[in-house]
Amino acid sequence: MSRSAEPLALESAEPVTLRRAQFVVEGMDCSDCARRVEDRLGRMGGVRATASNTGERTVTVEYEPDLVEPGQMRAALGRLGYLASVRDSREALDSHRAGVWRTAFAARTYASAGCFAIALVSLWAGLTDPARLFFLASALVGGWNFMPVGFRALIHGALDMHVLMTFAILGAIGIGEPLEAAAIAFLFSLAELLEQFSVRRAHDSLRGLMSLSPERATVLRDGEETVVPAEELRPGERILLKVGERVPVDGTLIEGAATLDASAITGESVPVDCAVGDALMAGMRATGGFAVVRVDRPRDESTLARIVQLIEDAEARKSRSERFVTRFARVYTPAVTALAVLVATIPTVFLGAAFDLWFERALTLLVIACPCALVISTPVAVVSGLTAAARHGVLIKGGEILEELAGVRTIALDKTGTLTYGHPVVTDVDVWDDRPVVELLGKAAAAERRSEHPLARAIVRGARDRGVDVDRYSVSAFEATPGVGVTARVDGEPISVGGEALATGMEAADRVTEMREAGKTVVVVRFDGQPAGMIALADRPRAESREAVETLARLGIRPVMLTGDDPVTASQVAGALGISEFHARLKPDEKLEWLERVSPDARPTAMVGDGVNDAPALAAAGVGIAMGAAGSDVALETADAVLMGDRVERLPYLFRLARMSRRVIHQNVVASILIKLSLAAAVPFGLVSLVAAVVVGDLGASLGVTANSMRLAGVRPRVRP
Ligand code: ADP
Ligand code: MG
Repeated sequence: MSRSAEPLALESAEPVTLRRAQFVVEGMDCSDCARRVEDRLGRMGGVRATASNTGERTVTVEYEPDLVEPGQMRAALGRLGYLASVRDSREALDSHRAGVWRTAFAARTYASAGCFAIALVSLWAGLTDPARLFFLASALVGGWNFMPVGFRALIHGALDMHVLMTFAILGAIGIGEPLEAAAIAFLFSLAELLEQFSVRRAHDSLRGLMSLSPERATVLRDGEETVVPAEELRPGERILLKVGERVPVDGTLIEGAATLDASAITGESVPVDCAVGDALMAGMRATGGFAVVRVDRPRDESTLARIVQLIEDAEARKSRSERFVTRFARVYTPAVTALAVLVATIPTVFLGAAFDLWFERALTLLVIACPCALVISTPVAVVSGLTAAARHGVLIKGGEILEELAGVRTIALDKTGTLTYGHPVVTDVDVWDDRPVVELLGKAAAAERRSEHPLARAIVRGARDRGVDVDRYSVSAFEATPGVGVTARVDGEPISVGGEALATGMEAADRVTEMREAGKTVVVVRFDGQPAGMIALADRPRAESREAVETLARLGIRPVMLTGDDPVTASQVAGALGISEFHARLKPDEKLEWLERVSPDARPTAMVGDGVNDAPALAAAGVGIAMGAAGSDVALETADAVLMGDRVERLPYLFRLARMSRRVIHQNVVASILIKLSLAAAVPFGLVSLVAAVVVGDLGASLGVTANSMRLAGVRPRVRP
């Protein structure tokens, strides 16, 4: 199960207020360093979660202020060799804008490259002495990127990439190979920069999403238009929305009309016309019209802001492959370093072999021992996958979910609101005793008034549309049973409205069956326990459902429809959609039971539901996929993945992307491990030079896994003609 235990723990135990702190960690410039930093912090009591960003050299910590404080965390990082300082978020944003290419680390890399180039030219011109000097300069300047942190780490007995590089560079200089030393320093710095860049790029496309909600808004205050920063908008204020502008906050259109493009949030490319009363989301763009919008929520509570937050959290969550690689790296680096020590000593001390030759081979091993390419092999793929999905209106909460989705072979689909539009309409009302239709419908609607169920709302609407005065009845003892119906006393008379079956042989039962065979949902109204009439409601299957179901089946995923509705109605809907397996008359807890029964551990079952009344089933499923989160907080929180804007046709895309992501992740992990291990194995035989070790084992492997991961952006939803 993919649910984390945290929300449960919060319910049962005393609620704890968690605090967040962000540190700038000098020297934390590669994924391996980030892993060490997070590892160290994660082992501290009271630290709940950590998330690092090598591009910005920051680590964000969520902690219990009663148990631990930022000062202790800084001290712990200091013992690892990293200088950490607490930073406020404004500063973080500024440094982010400065970019990967304009840091001190980058400047040293350029200087190192410059010296390296001059040295090469001098060498070519036959000036060997200046060449040596410039190689040396290149090695030291580039090496400065690793040495201070390396020395500090060494003092504390830590073995990280800085230590390895410091040894390799100084060692190469020591045996009189400044060219090699310079090559290691420069190329390794370059590899780190590229790595930071690729991680940053992925994060940037996320921030791009947030920048969709404009920083400024035109607000109407005392009849005057004022432009104010969007974060100052308060609920209840009125803002103006003009053509070309984006909606700054979640709000409601209260005057005028506008055409809005929500493609950035839901992936829906067709703009929608909005009129008075419609809800607007931050990030939508007005392509036509003019409107006054009432602010409903502050900017940082908008759906868009929450989506960005969720994806950021999702990226920080480790996938299964990532945890494997982390464990592997923990063994790999010390093992190869140990091999390096053996290679440096055994042949020379015991066999009398040439020292320089074997020492250089040992240095080559140190370079190969650096696990950077390994460590980024999964996160770059995961971030690419999550970002690609977000662009197409699909939110996935982490790499682990991506990997689980790839293994899904059975998908349970809720009927109402998922496969159908979820907007039922009253089509027929029958009365079986001698009361007037208005009374039956009116009393049923009065009883349903306090229910949030789509059927209940449809009945109330149906009654009002037929001119029935629903408000004239007094209602008491209202009770709703999920998956069954409601009971109440209306004007003192006990009434129940629900979907139960009638005794066969009754004349009324035939009418009910007739309706159900037409695919309609029937609720029976009883007064004092006696069947008194029925209300039939029709809900259309979504236009896209059939094709989505067919495509899923072609992908080898068995679609199963689950519903609380009657079997006859269910079989009609399932038949129309080409679904051969369905389970009807399921109470909410029976849906849950079914999911648990069909989910053998190896193959998670996915469940797609509307996220509101299906929340428990979504939580119980191997992977819970919620529909239409726009506006629904419950869905955003409980589901593992969310199809924005009710786009059921994005399901096949979701699974194709997940499978491709899993393939890419596996390729990355296997390839980077194989490259590293085969290089390491070849070194003792003198088959790999120092420079080749850097170029192939680090720069090449890092670039390779990054390029491979970018293929995920190429997986696109199929657009229907
Ligand atoms: P689904 O699985 O299709 O989403 P539910 O589990 O919400 O459906 O409800 C199952 C059945 O229970 C409905 O088809 C209906 O017959 C009955 N029901 C549930 N709530 C109500 C209600 N408020 N009023 C009338 N009938 C209801
Ligand atoms: Mg439902």
